[in-house]
Amino acid sequence: MTRLTIAEASCADDYDPNSMPVAKARAFIHQFLEPLTATVRVPIRGALDRVLAQDIVSPLDVPSHRNSAMDGWAMRGADLAPDAETTLEEIGASFAGRPFAGRVGPGQCVRIMTGGVVPEGADTVVMQERAKAEAKRVTFAAGQKTGQNVREAGEDLKRGAVALAKGRIVRPAELGLLASLGFGEVTVYRPLRVAFFSTGDELKSVGSTLGEGEIYDSNRYTIHGMLARLGCEVLDMGVVGDDPSLLEEAFGEAAANADVVITSGGVSVGEADFVKRMLDELGEVVFWKIAMKPGRPLAYGRIGGAHFFGLPGNPVSVMVTFYQFVREALLKLMGVDPVAPVPTFPATCATRLRKAPGRTEFQRAVVSRGPDGALTVRPTGEQGSGILKSMSEANCFIILGDATGNVEPGATVEVQLLEGIV
Ligand code: AMP
Ligand code: MG
Repeated sequence: MTRLTIAEASCADDYDPNSMPVAKARAFIHQFLEPLTATVRVPIRGALDRVLAQDIVSPLDVPSHRNSAMDGWAMRGADLAPDAETTLEEIGASFAGRPFAGRVGPGQCVRIMTGGVVPEGADTVVMQERAKAEAKRVTFAAGQKTGQNVREAGEDLKRGAVALAKGRIVRPAELGLLASLGFGEVTVYRPLRVAFFSTGDELKSVGSTLGEGEIYDSNRYTIHGMLARLGCEVLDMGVVGDDPSLLEEAFGEAAANADVVITSGGVSVGEADFVKRMLDELGEVVFWKIAMKPGRPLAYGRIGGAHFFGLPGNPVSVMVTFYQFVREALLKLMGVDPVAPVPTFPATCATRLRKAPGRTEFQRAVVSRGPDGALTVRPTGEQGSGILKSMSEANCFIILGDATGNVEPGATVEVQLLEGIV
């Protein structure tokens, strides 16, 4: 496939950089993302939050033996009368890790614990709550079914089957699964290196005193946090003033040392022109006004060999554009496959929301279960794009699509959670 350049791709008929729909911008970016190929071999604990670069093929059946799902007794199902109690003779025991060596014959049963190997001859387990034992004679309740409570060998995973596909993020469950198959090491993609800096003459780093009209740079901290959570290797390049030569130097250094360059600020109408002129020389970048709120201005492109995301300056816009555009792009570059969109679900909006049609809004909100058991969502107060508290107090976005206008209390809205449990 011949790949389009960014300039060619942005010449499509329905491409409008002054009002770019969210979905279109996402799709545009995705056509330029080539996942990492470099890999490293790590002990499995070191694979947590990394991306598998190999299919994990099971070297064994899981479980390796037919075993019991219950504490109880194992027997031949045919021996159990369907409509009456049945008494069998207990001839031994099979505990997890200590199997019964003999064979279960007609009229016999074996005491068995969860995970114990189901002995030869037996095909059924009756849980102990359905049995009465008197010395070696055990009476089982009526109504048992042949084959019940037995986990077949290979029931979870057959030997030779792909247990975990390449592209999977390793979470705690995957760590356990790898260990259960006997893997001590796995091959993962090397971490994605992301360089970032904040632009703006008004920005001071924490630790310094603020002068007239100056503010502390907070974006570098949210960006650091968001990148670290994704497992990226971060290269924090500090604050760069609104000065062409300083910016040019910073962009050059960032692109030379990282797979991805992220900046905040400098892409709004007044400032974009000069950043645009400079980036034209260093690479290929498109500047968009996305039809969204917050986070209207956004730049995407390539600088040297690196991908570039120019995020807006407002702190909430930074986070919203990161989560709605950059996150998925980074996951794809990290080798995650498939990159699943974060799901949304409906909830009842408790308050009136002001919204103009024509753009997508991402309001910061708290979703909870109301007294009637229904999911209810309400925004976290002031929604200005500079009010980071709105993000800090939120546990979800309310996503209001392009066509949506004002929302009345009691209406259903789509909600996207900010945190999962794993
Ligand atoms: P800009 O996009 O550069 O015009 O910035 C938009 C707004 O965001 C301005 O009020 C900036 O002061 C503010 N801003 C830009 N960068 C940062 C930052 N790193 N931390 C906090 N606020 C910022
Ligand atoms: Mg600025």
